[in-house]
Amino acid sequence: MQKIAIDMDEVIADSFSKLCEIYCEETGEELENEEESLYRFLEKGGKKTLHAYPHREGFFRNLQVIEGSQQVLEQLNKKYKLYIVSAATEFDLSMNDKIAWLKDHFPFLGWKQVVFCGDKSIIDADFLIDDHVKNLKGFNGKGYLFHAPHNIKESGYERVRSWKEVEEIFL
Ligand SMILES: [Mg+2]
Repeated sequence: MQKIAIDMDEVIADSFSKLCEIYCEETGEELENEEESLYRFLEKGGKKTLHAYPHREGFFRNLQVIEGSQQVLEQLNKKYKLYIVSAATEFDLSMNDKIAWLKDHFPFLGWKQVVFCGDKSIIDADFLIDDHVKNLKGFNGKGYLFHAPHNIKESGYERVRSWKEVEEIFL
């Protein structure tokens, strides 16, 4: 069976919307176009603020599920060896939240299918689906770049825009 490694944030878990939500709550601003507004904020030096949010306890507990991921992962899980691979050690309070979130939304995945690491180049699988080029770069198998607001300018990797597209490739 071939192995597929799947990232969490911005691939199956919508952490970007949570960043926007906290940003609006705490600044009182309204984001008309979330992508544009947040990137303008980042350019103006807001990086430190935004990067602090995921370090808070509970940040990863109630994220929305990326559309279509549950249904497609459930099907992929029958044909491939699936692993959820998250660089969770970057956020030391995130791991309990991430495990609880996976149990809620992906109950068909077992505990042996979850890999928390710092550097994803340790991962040995046939495929990796991830929204960060930095993770795809060190990967030995075939990488797919999952479309996210921050990676729209990236090229060099096959881009998948939705779980529907992933389904068409793998199933
Ligand atoms: Mg990610």
